Amino acid sequence: MPADFTLSCPVPIQDYPQVTLAHGGGGRLTQQLIDRLFGAAFRNPLLDQKHDGAVMETDGRRLAFTTDSYVVHPLFFPGGDIGSLAVNGTVNDLAMCGARARWLSCGFIIEEGLAMETLWKVVRSMRQAADAAGAQIVTGDTKVVDKGRGDGLYVNTAGVGVVESARPIAPAQVVPGDVVLLSGDVGRHGMAIMSVREGLQFESPIQSDCAPLVEPVMDLLQAGLEIHCLRDLTRGGLASALNEIAAVAAVQVDIDEAAVPVEEPVRGACEILGFDPLYVANEGRFAAFVPAREAERALQILRGHSQCQAAATIGVVKKADAGLVTLKSRIGASRILDLLSGEQLPRIC
Ligand code: MG
Repeated sequence: MPADFTLSCPVPIQDYPQVTLAHGGGGRLTQQLIDRLFGAAFRNPLLDQKHDGAVMETDGRRLAFTTDSYVVHPLFFPGGDIGSLAVNGTVNDLAMCGARARWLSCGFIIEEGLAMETLWKVVRSMRQAADAAGAQIVTGDTKVVDKGRGDGLYVNTAGVGVVESARPIAPAQVVPGDVVLLSGDVGRHGMAIMSVREGLQFESPIQSDCAPLVEPVMDLLQAGLEIHCLRDLTRGGLASALNEIAAVAAVQVDIDEAAVPVEEPVRGACEILGFDPLYVANEGRFAAFVPAREAERALQILRGHSQCQAAATIGVVKKADAGLVTLKSRIGASRILDLLSGEQLPRIC
């Protein structure tokens, strides 16, 4: 614990007197909140790994543990709902640790007056998502808050999974010479939500990519591939995930914009609403860092899964500038791909 922790808050309170909506995304302010306030307060070797979950060893077995809260608005959207999102989000964070989700908890914060049918639809969706991932919901909690003091429904899930990978999979394992693989097209979840909220009409609505990632990940592991790091591209999208990993591993990551698949309706919605698809949340996509020699086999395995057919190599890891992520644009110019400094999409997941 820092010596002055009990005396003063480790974030510059004079700069940020209140937590605002801008803190709620994958941007720089969130990162400061996590690093300087939560990280400083709770510091320990497991947390310091800055992974999607903590991997704990007990009696020679390794278990992964993670938690996430869901405040998505609207509760139902093309391709999913808050229930499938909550289960898949936790299943996927465990998969990113090389673990198969086994036991989940769920906490419901319900606003008084929520239609029972709505709650039932969400619960049914959670059961289906858990069944699909081979996990069970084994404990939970329910709180009801006054009408007007919540917004329908918030869900928290936590999960424990059994680690199936013999070698550690974590941001600090990424080394120069690795390549960055992307499991599919990006930007769909965020744009599915925003299109509904903004009333954008498309011939066919943009569907969220919300899905469990456990099978593609387990196939990579079972093939014996050397995987250094996995990261699902949720809040803050691909760009934020790459920045976080480049910082922890103290490496430079260079990616090629032309190699990153973005479907046309998503690109269109991003242009209309002023978003960069590289920063938009996904709920069924991940990046894998593997040694270059493993890339082709890994891509073949991924493309065998319907949700990963567009899997591609999108970049390389270099020693050069620790923590830097660069993007070679479609016209060949190179620029820094930074953490977003401004406001992120609120209540996207
Ligand atoms: Mg994650």
